[in-house]
This record gives sequence, C-alpha cells and structure tokens, in this order.
Amino acid sequence: MAQEVRGVIAPGKDEPVRIETIVVPDPGPGEAVVRIQACGVCHTDLHYKQGGINDDFPFLLGHEAAGVVESVGDDVTDVAPGDFVVLNWRAVCGKCRACMRGRPWYCFDTHNAKQKMTLASTGQELSPALGIGAFAEKTLVAAGQCTKVDPEVSPQVAGLLGCGVMAGIGAAINTGNVGRGDSVAVIGCGGVGDAAIAGARLAGAAKIIAVDIDDRKLETARSMGATHTVNSRTSDPVEAIRGLTGGFGADVVIEAVGRPETYQQAFYARDLAGTVVLVGVPTPEMKLELPLLDVFGRGGSLKSSWYGDCLPSRDFPMLVDLHQQGRLDLGAFVTETIQLDEVEKAFERMHKGDVLRSVVVL
Ligand SMILES: [Zn+2]
Ligand SMILES: [Zn+2]
Repeated sequence: MAQEVRGVIAPGKDEPVRIETIVVPDPGPGEAVVRIQACGVCHTDLHYKQGGINDDFPFLLGHEAAGVVESVGDDVTDVAPGDFVVLNWRAVCGKCRACMRGRPWYCFDTHNAKQKMTLASTGQELSPALGIGAFAEKTLVAAGQCTKVDPEVSPQVAGLLGCGVMAGIGAAINTGNVGRGDSVAVIGCGGVGDAAIAGARLAGAAKIIAVDIDDRKLETARSMGATHTVNSRTSDPVEAIRGLTGGFGADVVIEAVGRPETYQQAFYARDLAGTVVLVGVPTPEMKLELPLLDVFGRGGSLKSSWYGDCLPSRDFPMLVDLHQQGRLDLGAFVTETIQLDEVEKAFERMHKGDVLRSVVVL
C-alpha cells in the first residue's frame, strides 16, 4: 500500500518551500522505503529551490539524511527492514567502466529509485533532490543508496556524512591524499571547508591553515583543527600561506569556495609539485585564466573532488566509527536542530553564514 507522508516541496523557481502531503509507493525491485530521522540543510537544496540545478519542479528537497529502513523490494538483499542507514547519492552500479576498473568512487551510472513519489493533491510527479528527497517523514530510494552504519550513533550526526561533511573530509583524505606531517591550507571555511580541516587533522597534517573573510568562521575553523588562520580581507592569502610554510607554500591547498579568484589563490599558495583540490562548486558562467607556463612550471597536480571521491560503503561506516571513538567530532557541524516546517528560515540563516548546518529532526 502506498503511504501518504509530509514532505518539504520547492514548488517553483524562487518560491518559498512548503510542506505538502506526498505519496510514497511501496518499494519495487531494487528499492527501499526509509523512515527519515534527521536531514541536514545543504546549499544544494537552496540551489534546487532557486532553479540553479534544473527546472524539474516540483522538487522534494533534502538529501543529507539518516533513518531506518522500513521496507524493501523483493530482490533486495544488502539491507533489511530495521537497518539504520545513511543515505548516499552515489549508489554504485558495479558494471560501468569506472566500476569495472576498480574505481567505483567515479561510477558513471549511479542508481536511484525507478518509481516516482507524487503530490497527493494533484498526482504530479516529484523530483527528489539528488535522487533522495529526505525532508520527508519517509522517502523512496534505490536500496544501494542506503549504507548501514553503527546504529548507536545519533541520526542528526550520521546524516551529515551523506553530503557536505563527506565532501570536505574526502577532499582532504581521498582526493588530496593528505598525509602525516603535510602542510594543508583550506580556502573557505563553511561546512565543507571545515570538514576538509577536520579531514586534514584526521590524516595527521602538521600544519592546517584556514583562510576566510569572516573572523567568526576562522574561529570555528580553529575548533575543527586549524593551527593557523588568515583573514583574506585584511591580508594577502598567498603571501600569508607562504609565510607560514617557510616561503614554499602548502603541500595541499583545498579550495572550498568555487570561484576563479580563490582558485588562483589556491594555485599560487601551494608548494612546487603540490596539490590543489577544488571542492567548492562554481557556477556555469565562471572562467579560469592562468599562465600556462605556470601550470607547467609548478608541476604537481590540480584535482577536483566530487562528493569527496567517496565510496559510501567504505567511508560512511569508517567515519561513524571514528566519531564514536572520539577521534572525529561530527557533532561540531550541527549548529541547530529544527522542525520540518523551518527549512525556509534555515535557508536564510545559511545564506547569511550564521550556521554550519541546520538539521531537521523528525
Ligand atoms: Zn558504476
Ligand atoms: Zn548536499
């Protein structure tokens, strides 16, 4: 029997979000219905609402979530009703070229539920954000989007691994390959940048330099593990990072803003043969201009990090375990917990830079 639950809908471009009754079908083959316990508010949800991702309105927002599997389709064997899971937007296919080469974190053919959730009032099909749609009491996903983790962890903390926090930690430990003793600079200290700082600390970086234009954010960055901070409004970040690294630049610079100016700062703030990781998300009109001779002459690698190059089945349980052991404070990313009807207000606070994460608790 299909069920009716409450969910947060973005009805049209730049219209305020609202709660609607949505219809969640029973899971078909390869699918699971998950009862959502917590879901973080991410910039990507705001981009959907603003029409910045595509025009497939109405969207069912929310994608950084944890919950309990309620029911599964006939052929589902990896998860079962009652399992505590974090939802992911990369359910690897196991068959594409990336998967077959043993690089499933680059899977080209990730899975989502085939059936559609709909609006109860009009029967209109919903587009779930990143194939998840978890600002809802229940949602329908592909079973592969459910990653089991230690059920002792708090859902509001675990859900964050589903997107932004994983992107930042993964940018440092997976893409940037930060190692013991490395110097790391992180440009942009929002949720993703702070997670990159936490990831660099976890990986044993000796020096972690946080760069931002907001002193409040630099303060938070320190609590996440930054050893030095630079306000790039009052001092040149490239000079400052070189000054803090014996004149060389950092081994790994993580750009968590996604703008040409900050990318250039990252490019010149790294050591010869160092690594730049772009994890901030640019917009379509942005262009980058760099002297090609500098790109050649400085060597090293320029990388992009998509979802922190994570493999959910490998990384989610591991990071939850480290959190449970007190070695990674995921709770520090939760600024506030809110109700389902407070998502619109949370977007405003996020836009002002007042919160790292607001988390809807159901
Ligand atoms: Zn694949
Ligand atoms: Zn997100």
